[in-house]
Amino acid sequence: MALVIRDAEVLTMDAVTGATPVRRSIRIDGDTITEVGTRVRTDDTDTVLDGRDRLVCPGFVNAHTHSWEYLAKGRYDNLPLELWMLYSYPILGARPLSPDLIRLRSLLFAAESLKSGVTTLVDDVLETPAQDLDQLDAVVGAYDRIGIRADVSGHVINRPFVDTVPYAADRLPPAVVSTVRSRPVPTAQEYLDFSAEALRRYRDRAGGRVRYMLAPSGPQRCTDDLITGAAELAPAHDVSCHIHVLETKVQAVTGREFHGSTLVEHLRRIGALTPNTTLAHGIWVTDADIDLLAEHGSGVAHNPVSNLKLGSGIAPWRRYHRAGVTLGLGTDGCSSSDTPRMHDVLKAAALLHKVTGPDHHDWPRADEVLRAATAGGARTAHRHHEIGTIAPGMQADLLLYDLDTLAFTPRNRAELQLVHSENGSSLRRVLVAGRTVVEDGRLTTVDEDALRAELAELMPGIRAEQDRLERENDVFADAFEWMHRTCAGEDVGVHRWSGPDPSLARSH
Ligand SMILES: [Zn+2]
Repeated sequence: MALVIRDAEVLTMDAVTGATPVRRSIRIDGDTITEVGTRVRTDDTDTVLDGRDRLVCPGFVNAHTHSWEYLAKGRYDNLPLELWMLYSYPILGARPLSPDLIRLRSLLFAAESLKSGVTTLVDDVLETPAQDLDQLDAVVGAYDRIGIRADVSGHVINRPFVDTVPYAADRLPPAVVSTVRSRPVPTAQEYLDFSAEALRRYRDRAGGRVRYMLAPSGPQRCTDDLITGAAELAPAHDVSCHIHVLETKVQAVTGREFHGSTLVEHLRRIGALTPNTTLAHGIWVTDADIDLLAEHGSGVAHNPVSNLKLGSGIAPWRRYHRAGVTLGLGTDGCSSSDTPRMHDVLKAAALLHKVTGPDHHDWPRADEVLRAATAGGARTAHRHHEIGTIAPGMQADLLLYDLDTLAFTPRNRAELQLVHSENGSSLRRVLVAGRTVVEDGRLTTVDEDALRAELAELMPGIRAEQDRLERENDVFADAFEWMHRTCAGEDVGVHRWSGPDPSLARSH
């Protein structure tokens, strides 16, 4: 018994018709697309969906996110990355979250993701003060249950946080610095052992739908042996090694101060650039950095909404394309963008780069944006052999939009309207691995109302804990503010952002 979608407008995102809508029928047997054509086989026992007035495209891949931040959604504004991290990723005083709360958090995060058309999460999960396998199990179990596809880390920082940024340690009280430096951090071997166990444990989870990935936080936040070990382990298990690189100008200064080179050159030197390596952000890169990424086949997860909200800068979209570096699109976490809704990211990617230069031939096209949100993200997640396009043999991760809505009225170019006019409100059905997980705006696998009610009961306690952590970590604020402003004024050889006005008062 198969599922057949008959006579829909389809964006296959494949090499032939790409993002041009074509009238197609799609046959799905189990979790796999088995036929795509103007006609497909239909048996008496098949379920047939009328595809007229429907636009079908591959599910979106959220190529970079952090479900951890879900509980801090809507808490912060007008903080640059390094200052925002003090509160959203507290350095001192954090107590581990229970697996039950992590399960609830992951279910709600995945629920909102699925309802906005995200069928695959690249979820770089960081728990403070450290992650254990019970906590990781909770995330993996939640994604298995709700029916989303996901790569889940393993995010690790193994250097004392005050030593991951330039200048700040000298301006902090010595007692605070020694407290931070005395906190235990995992050794490279401990992280690689943890990762090997996670890779073994989740190898066949939900038929490969939920996997573990490697995620050293960044070249300035991890030791070289940890990064190199992770970069070697990823290809051996056909997963990605996900690393934050050059998100902010502070990080561009950090590369020069710590390594005397750019952070991308440093990764190349230690052998960490491979086709399985994906850089999150990649904003403050030089032309030579971009060439290195292209040469080694490494991809970039681009997060325009988060980059705007944290004032991080603007990634060089056209230069990445010209060099042949694959881009995925991500929301980043729910505290740096405050939503896992990919429609916002598609539109932001389409618009943001138009202000970077007057040559309109260089501006992002809707088909490029859609490719980054689907096939590009599949590539940066190392799932391109199974998702990202609509073709026989691919997994049936599909979005079905109603074209008979205000967003698609008048019906001109569906692919342009999907990027610029639609916000997810026309989405009628979401399939992951052939299973309907959202139908007419409702999740089929979990009780959303019950999940929200459960969290609402817990929020007073969670908020009190967040308030306590903010007070405790406020001790870093002045030194980090000074570091941020100092770096903003330095010349790092790339110009992505003009820096803050030093006369502006601290806004938090
Ligand atoms: Zn991130």
